[in-house]
Amino acid sequence: MTTNLLDFDLHGLQAFCESLGEKRFRAQQLFRWIHQKGESDFDRMTDLAVGFRHKLKQHAFVRGLETISAHTSSDGTIKWLFSVGHGDAVETVYIPESDRGTLCVSSQAGCAVGCRFCSTGHQGFSRNLTSAEITAQLWMAEHLLRQQLGRTDRVISNVVMMGMGEPLQNYAALIPALKTMLDDHGYGLSRRRVTVSTSGVVPMMDRLGQDCPVALAVSLHAPMDALRDVLVPLNVKYPLVELMQASLRYLDHAPRDFITFEYCMLSGVNDQPEHAQLLIDLIARSGPGGQGLSCKLNLIPFNPFPASGLVRSSADAVQRFAQQLQKAGLVTTVRKTRGDDIDAACGQLAGDVVDRTKLAQRKANQRVIPLQLTPS
Ligand code: SF4
Repeated sequence: MTTNLLDFDLHGLQAFCESLGEKRFRAQQLFRWIHQKGESDFDRMTDLAVGFRHKLKQHAFVRGLETISAHTSSDGTIKWLFSVGHGDAVETVYIPESDRGTLCVSSQAGCAVGCRFCSTGHQGFSRNLTSAEITAQLWMAEHLLRQQLGRTDRVISNVVMMGMGEPLQNYAALIPALKTMLDDHGYGLSRRRVTVSTSGVVPMMDRLGQDCPVALAVSLHAPMDALRDVLVPLNVKYPLVELMQASLRYLDHAPRDFITFEYCMLSGVNDQPEHAQLLIDLIARSGPGGQGLSCKLNLIPFNPFPASGLVRSSADAVQRFAQQLQKAGLVTTVRKTRGDDIDAACGQLAGDVVDRTKLAQRKANQRVIPLQLTPS
């Protein structure tokens, strides 16, 4: 049996090398060849002993994902659609800015959480990605971009786990991939520059804080349970009070002294002054001893997709909402939309992902719950 070495963090690769009868330190050289130089051909790893290379050729390989398409936007954003086999595809997006290069990485083919405003959630869940498939997105993007741009230094400085899927519902595969991103012999990214975004898988937020405390973004989207139950169905299991407590606990481990709350702006649904006030109140009572929780709000213009039945908040409504939060002392930014000319919402390119859980069908059979337009 042969193994894709992209599956391993350095610790895993050391164990693999030992299983081949090699010294652990060989793994470090091999890891650097793979991740720092982007090499997949063992014969070109010239400073590895010939006998070791021979064993590697027998027992291992290094393989990325098959590219279905790559689209470059006029603003330089690149969106790849990668096949992960059996009709499943995932999206990876590179967003260049003057001071950073950010890669948005997927963790699952589809997603079981089923957020109301999310194109991926609408398609249902197919399967978890392996560690190799998560890491391969960075491995491919980094080395393709270096080739395209004629660079030898690092192109991608930031990774956000905000692509398709709920990363904390694929925890076992996520952790080795995160460790590879952070490892100085891998991509050497700072913990502050690797962000996991979660819809609120409370127990796994605690585990992430213990195992690999990178920056955390929480998809909030509603300031009260009645509305969040509809927009982010996971809220029924982990309601706001538990989510806010877990966010507070995470601050003990977070590489920055704040949590980012993401808030997708939906016209007439969650963008009214009453919602802003409820959000201010929620954050104010969620910190230590009833003090404010240290956080940053990121307002996201909704990316409409045909079946959503939802409308993007107007620029004025977003500005008013942002100002109300800012006046209350909350650090608030509005996310710039990028790559608008290559498609719209995340998950649209991979729209024919196979829904083996039949989530889409189950949802169609469910009673339609009307969105609550005003806070209760
Ligand atoms: S927003 Fe994230 S957690 Fe929610 S359905 Fe989409 S991919 Fe899943």
